[in-house]
Amino acid sequence: MNPKIGDLIYAGKAKDVYETDTPNHVIVKFRDDITAGDGIKCESLVKKGYYNSVISSKFFEILEESGIKTQYIELIKPGYMLCKKLRMIPLEVITRNIATGSIVKKFPFHHNQILNPPIIQMDYKNDVYHDPMLNDSITTALSLATQQELNNIRKITFKINNILKDFLLEKNILFPDFKIEYGFDSHGNIVLGDEISPDTCRFWDLKSWEVLDKDLFRNGESNVMDAYMKIASLILNNEDKEKWNISHILK
Ligand code: 5GP
Repeated sequence: MNPKIGDLIYAGKAKDVYETDTPNHVIVKFRDDITAGDGIKCESLVKKGYYNSVISSKFFEILEESGIKTQYIELIKPGYMLCKKLRMIPLEVITRNIATGSIVKKFPFHHNQILNPPIIQMDYKNDVYHDPMLNDSITTALSLATQQELNNIRKITFKINNILKDFLLEKNILFPDFKIEYGFDSHGNIVLGDEISPDTCRFWDLKSWEVLDKDLFRNGESNVMDAYMKIASLILNNEDKEKWNISHILK
């Protein structure tokens, strides 16, 4: 496919969405911007968009192969992903396999406590209200989703967690938690959208528990891109690495 990029229809904190010459298709451009704390902390990291688009594409491909409906059509080139157009649901669906981050601040979980079964939490994606945690009554009362849609989202999310957790374990990566977002496609199906990357997931080295994700940026560390490149290097096969010209990080 050789889609033409059209008008900008949405600009988020780290991605832009453009119309294409095909209705129901959009191009998602992954920018180099990285933010934390409702966008208060904001920087630009060279090639972050490049790596996040390649990493997200790999995860979307794995999920599609396992029967999960995603927005992904193809990676046109690093940074530019061709996707189905979705009407996004303003929910941040967070899955936790290990207690860390905000949950240990809000509830008496021990830091690094294994959560089995995993916790699925939904936050309202709304900067003005600082992404508050929802329950099903609030979500349905706000007409963000119906109870049936929420049940469906939970079912799909558990499946996604199992697929990605197992895949990452094989690559020697722990998967403490992640945030995903869903939308409706033109047929009204609930489809996985947004991205799956070190910006939206926690990834830890299996042996050392070294942090390999955006927490490095949140904590003011300087080696953020090294971690993102390491994740790409661990999850991509040699063919993908060659295709996307990231062989320089082959170790
Ligand atoms: P926590 O609630 O512990 O801060 O985050 C849990 C998981 O969800 C982490 O993997 C984190 O990256 C992701 N997450 C939660 N809220 C957001 C958000 O607003 N933006 C992004 N990019 N990730 C989020």
